[in-house]
Amino acid sequence: MSQAPVVPVVRCSSVTKRYGAVAAVEGLSFALQPGEILSILGPSGSGKTTVLRLIAGFESPDRGEIRIQGRVVSGPAVHVPPNRRNVGMVFQEYALFPHLTVAQNVSFGLRRMSRQERGRRLAEVLALAGLGGLENRYPHELSGGQQQRVALARTIAPRPITVLLDEPFSNLDAGMRRRLRQEVADILRAHTIATVFVTHDREEAFAMADRIGVMNDGHLEQLDTPDRIYHAPATPFVAQLAGMCDFLPGEVRDGVVVTEIGNVPYASDDGPLPEASPVDLLVHPDDLRVLPQPEGTAVIHAREFRGGETILVVRLPSGATVRCRQRASTTLTPGTTVTLVPDQDRAFVAFPQTERRP
Ligand code: ADP
Ligand code: MG
Repeated sequence: MSQAPVVPVVRCSSVTKRYGAVAAVEGLSFALQPGEILSILGPSGSGKTTVLRLIAGFESPDRGEIRIQGRVVSGPAVHVPPNRRNVGMVFQEYALFPHLTVAQNVSFGLRRMSRQERGRRLAEVLALAGLGGLENRYPHELSGGQQQRVALARTIAPRPITVLLDEPFSNLDAGMRRRLRQEVADILRAHTIATVFVTHDREEAFAMADRIGVMNDGHLEQLDTPDRIYHAPATPFVAQLAGMCDFLPGEVRDGVVVTEIGNVPYASDDGPLPEASPVDLLVHPDDLRVLPQPEGTAVIHAREFRGGETILVVRLPSGATVRCRQRASTTLTPGTTVTLVPDQDRAFVAFPQTERRP
């Protein structure tokens, strides 16, 4: 017996949106699956907000098609207006009605329900968002985190098909951000609400997402699990956005990469790289062991204490530097001569040197 194929909650197919000469979004294709939290990670100006505005219907694509639960909402000669899409969007700024209480703000999208139904849904959503007891407060009587929870409660109250979050925590301080993103992820997962979550903050993207899409200059550069975005980045751009990393020049010989720290096995999604081709080896801070050795050819150049860990900046004979993570209490100090030993248990990622580095 074959199962019915799952209809994606949102499907974008080759969507392009230009503003004059600027392609804010170009050839974007992805499918958001039921209950999934998809993070879109990219630097400022890479097109993240435009993606959400296209899905919500505030913008029309120049090319391509957008479907919500299988129905075409944007396409050639089709534009379903935002209020007919049943999509909820939470913006960076809280955008609450300042003259309405918490209860009135959250009830805003429930006008079409009966009074009884509305009261029930309001209580349910307030409890879910941890806002019980605050229903009669006005937005200015709430903290930033509480205001953003009200905005989320208001968005999910009418049971939208999907929720779009545009950097919703960026106006909050670091501690509040961390707490709130966990709470928000819990709420979305508890209700299996399919979500597109946009951020320029890698930590936030990793903490929230089932999958991450990395955007660069209007393009979706890779869409993958958080693990693969970090460990198997498709491009140097993705690698740098996904975490602290360095690149070491090397050359492919006999199926390994020859570098100044030795020969290391490599993996490439596109199959073996040509012999003798120049590559950049991706090195994460946990990839190399740092052994103090008088005969070593590398030198510890600097030491950055980060509280829970210490990062050593190690300089190689060529002048290249790599950062290596150590325990906070490491006794290694700048000036120490060392040898860097690559972890031989796994393959490194190597990029052909022709690939542009950001
Ligand atoms: P992000 O949210 O990733 O910072 P945006 O989607 O806001 O990026 O913008 C992507 C690109 O499109 C930027 O170059 C931006 O300047 C441009 N852009 C966005 N909205 C408009 C607009 N309404 N008019 C002209 N250019 C715009
Ligand atoms: Mg934006």
